[in-house]
Amino acid sequence: MTFVITQACCNDTSCIAVCPVQCIRPRPGEASFTTAEQLYIDPATCIDCGACAEECPVGAIVHHADLPTRLEEFRGINADYFAEHPLDDVTPPRLTRPRLPRQQPRLRVAIVGCGPAALYAASELSEIRGVEVTIVERLLEPYGLARFGIAPDHGQTRLMAERFAPVLRRPNVTCLLGVEAGRDVSIADLQRRHHAVIWATGAFADRTLGVVGEDLQGSVSARDFVAWYNGHPDSTGRRFDLSGRRAVVIGNGNVALDIARLLAQPAAVYEHTSISPNALQALRTSGIEEVVVVGRRGPTHAAYSTAELLALAHLPEVDLLALPGETSRTEGAARSPFGLGRRLGAVRDAAARTPTRPRRITLRFGLAPVELTGEGAVTGVLLERSDGTTERIETTLVIRAIGFDGRPTAGLPFDPVTSTIPSNAGRIIDPSTDDPLPGMYCTGWIRRGPTGSIGANRFDAAETVASLLDDFAQGRLPAPTAL
Ligand code: SF4
Repeated sequence: MTFVITQACCNDTSCIAVCPVQCIRPRPGEASFTTAEQLYIDPATCIDCGACAEECPVGAIVHHADLPTRLEEFRGINADYFAEHPLDDVTPPRLTRPRLPRQQPRLRVAIVGCGPAALYAASELSEIRGVEVTIVERLLEPYGLARFGIAPDHGQTRLMAERFAPVLRRPNVTCLLGVEAGRDVSIADLQRRHHAVIWATGAFADRTLGVVGEDLQGSVSARDFVAWYNGHPDSTGRRFDLSGRRAVVIGNGNVALDIARLLAQPAAVYEHTSISPNALQALRTSGIEEVVVVGRRGPTHAAYSTAELLALAHLPEVDLLALPGETSRTEGAARSPFGLGRRLGAVRDAAARTPTRPRRITLRFGLAPVELTGEGAVTGVLLERSDGTTERIETTLVIRAIGFDGRPTAGLPFDPVTSTIPSNAGRIIDPSTDDPLPGMYCTGWIRRGPTGSIGANRFDAAETVASLLDDFAQGRLPAPTAL
């Protein structure tokens, strides 16, 4: 008997803290934790107590007897992890929550941003007596990616926002919505009023393809498209033309699969979700029957997670297809060796499938976009193989889902290569000297780049907060000079 961690896992690790026999892996501090697609339960050690299932903020942990058919494969996925990573240490991880010395003055901290990274930091800090937190968020709604970055049909993952709601209600937390740091309040002002400022502004600039035609009408960034279907305030008034029969998504990470799923499925799937009314109306009249997902390299290097690919293969009204000649491409080491067999198996199954439904998602591999063609608006995308041969796919909608970058903030150092704020253990540093900037910290994607699921920000935030508290206790933080 065992519990099984399934597709919605957010890597938050709340389950690890409550497991009495410590059979959930990987754990923070282990080499594979930062790159893990999800957490796993060892079926040989689990005592079936159910504590993890109660604690999981997104309901991703299911008793094996209750697994629905579409999640059955996760029984083997959990077990396989321990075949490759046998349990060797079952001592509970030490969770050391920092305390402030009693004689210290109140600690005032500003946090810029109100997404998961910011709220994990606010949660850590506001649990400590004597700490006051002010969150500054440019939007009029909190929760950042937990509200505006999750696909509407991933209702379980969207529960993350509920996990954070109590943090904003704590008496020592003030949340200023609709206030943009650098526009409505200066960095200097934040510093004058607080001992420390934590930057948790995320990574929301689009990476570009750098090809001719990228600016044509019908060429859309994944950031804009996701914002549109999630009702992000920045997308108010946006319209996307879904009247063509085929859409092309460039990129093969989880965001690309979210978009492909949304475009390929009937609108009825999204009727009772949090999708924006505009997007739902557009889906109702959509003409799209095929979504082509284009990856530059082979299936070995695709960036999607095992769980998201398997979910695509279980869509009730969509055929997942691939081209046999493209599925055997292997070059160099895999992006993530664990689960590779299942991912390749799913792609090979897709290549062997005979389509029977009117809607389809076709995975293509080994194709680099070299031009978006058309006069004023996209009519096709020209793709090139490694042998120099080309192929043109006709389409009127190309969505560029090749990743995000952080944006520089005036007055803060920025590394243009990694698109992050240079830092050490969460302390923002002067890149010319590596010295920390007193009272300045960062966490989340703007610190480490746009990788990892929502829960991965928890330990990022914990490290940043630990550095901040240590600096405060050591008298290294400048005292505020204004209220
Ligand atoms: Fe650990 Fe109990 Fe969850 Fe099994 S059911 S993984 S023993 S917390």
